[in-house]
Amino acid sequence: MTPNSLNFSGGPGALPQAVLAQTREAIAALPETGLSVLGMSHRSDWFYSILHEAESNLRHLLGISDDYAITFLQGGSSLQFAMIPMNFAAGAGAPPEYVSSGYWSARAAAEAARVRTTRIAWDGRPGGYRKLPDLYTLDVARPSAYLHYVSNETVEGLQFPACEEAFAVPLVADMSSDFLSKPIRPGVFSMIYAHAQKNLGPAGVTVAIIDRSLLERIPNGLPSILDFRTHISHGSNYNTPPVFAIYVLTLITRWLRFDIGSLTAMQDINERKARRLYGALDALGDCVTVHADRRWRSQMNVAFTFGDARLDDAFLVSAREQGMVGLEGHRSIGGLRASLYNAVTPQAVGTLADALTAFSVHCI
Ligand SMILES: *Cc1c(COP(=O)(O)O)cnc(C)c1O
Repeated sequence: MTPNSLNFSGGPGALPQAVLAQTREAIAALPETGLSVLGMSHRSDWFYSILHEAESNLRHLLGISDDYAITFLQGGSSLQFAMIPMNFAAGAGAPPEYVSSGYWSARAAAEAARVRTTRIAWDGRPGGYRKLPDLYTLDVARPSAYLHYVSNETVEGLQFPACEEAFAVPLVADMSSDFLSKPIRPGVFSMIYAHAQKNLGPAGVTVAIIDRSLLERIPNGLPSILDFRTHISHGSNYNTPPVFAIYVLTLITRWLRFDIGSLTAMQDINERKARRLYGALDALGDCVTVHADRRWRSQMNVAFTFGDARLDDAFLVSAREQGMVGLEGHRSIGGLRASLYNAVTPQAVGTLADALTAFSVHCI
């Protein structure tokens, strides 16, 4: 049984067919244990081996050294918006800096400001969140507790180029919507986090990769569950973790390692998909507008509009008739958005690109 619709949703996003097939089987009974994954104990040997494998696959795929802890958390990326300043900005002397370049980074900055004094290093709101700054030439106070940014703005469809060089202050990245879509240079970051539901599995688990030297800054007296050290020292098993979500995340890392082969191979596929879709949009000329300025276009989320709500709606209806769903733009900017996460196949993107080309006869 395969789903008969193509999922272009911004999140929760599409999952690979092979992973869905294994998940269906695991819900009935895991081959290894004879029990449904939904009833597996978080203290079972089976689950400890899943936690171990998830971490080791992530280390392998991303090239993460033991200088970094990897931990699996709950509360989504939104909890990280609060936890990060609570843990890493207390008593650091200088406030943390936030790049506010879209809907999600603005949310992160606003939440941090409830917890600590913060500084906005760059604000893209006056420009309508269509551009990104060059992180390396930003006016960032030195020292500062850290610089926080969102590597891919999921709503507006803007993506930073990969950070390749060491940064002047600790760099913290919310990679929720482009994590595992391409290789990264992990040594550049002090912390990376990403919830699962865009590119790595179902909602319920968030991956955090933290430079261990940052842990020394954590003030004592935080509630244990909000202290990163608790989760790291308990091997991501302090309280009942989301066993099912971590299981599916592990299957995704297996799929990337052993079916796709590497993040470089994944990047090649994602680049081809994005080229195909932007190519089709650009060929429509004035008929459509891509939200992001060309230089900052995201390979994961393509936000665009026909410039007329009736045409956008008509396209959504026509796409749905052809089996394509999840193409509504985020409520904050409207229009349309196609998310091209890892599990969205080149064939699906081809179908969407052809549908856009055919629909353009309706342009005025
Ligand atoms: C979707 C999204 C979030 C919100 O994540 P939750 O898990 O729902 O809290 C945060 N950051 C980015 C970049 C996102 O795309």
